[in-house]
Amino acid sequence: MKRIAITGGIGSGKSTIVKIFNELGIPSIDADEVAKQVRNLPSVHAEILKRFGTTDRLELRKIIISDPKAKDDIEAILLPQIKEFSEKKMKKIESKSSAPFLLYEAILIIQTGRIKEFDALIVVDATDEERTKRIQERDQVSEETAKGMMNAQMNRQEWIKNADFIIHNSGNLDQLRHEVRKILDQLMKQ
Ligand code: ADP
Repeated sequence: MKRIAITGGIGSGKSTIVKIFNELGIPSIDADEVAKQVRNLPSVHAEILKRFGTTDRLELRKIIISDPKAKDDIEAILLPQIKEFSEKKMKKIESKSSAPFLLYEAILIIQTGRIKEFDALIVVDATDEERTKRIQERDQVSEETAKGMMNAQMNRQEWIKNADFIIHNSGNLDQLRHEVRKILDQLMKQ
């Protein structure tokens, strides 16, 4: 079973696309979910609390936006554990599913060098304007906060230059389903 990573900036539509793949029979792992489990480990919880004074996700997000060193610190705590947990989850799917590939959805995959562990990388792309609108609606935040979240990440070109496949998601959901089917066809032929 191939391992395909799917990434892209916040609000680009990763989760929405993974759901469409799931409906088409492709299993997936969400690195965000894995990160939540890791954060709840008593040892990790204690380490984060000690360094940041909080374990609240939105609070941590705010700290990270205003302090780049904080981002490195939290990643150093979480990433090794996320890698170990996700590896176990992928092995479990591989042992019981007959799907042609699994999807690993993660924001941090290019930056951490984990891209090497996967057979291919799908990058989800959407205009900054669309993404801002979607983040505002989904997370109920101001335009300024949405832009801050976006700007704390890599820009569009940096995501795209690492892609084996690009899913363009600046249109509506019907257009998106069509795009996903196209990529699924290409992945099946690989
Ligand atoms: P990501 O996982 O990349 O942060 P999501 O999949 O959560 O992004 O999408 C962000 C928001 O935009 C969600 O509320 C989702 O329902 C919505 N969305 C994503 N793609 C589309 C689309 N093509 N048309 C309309 N809404 C969309």
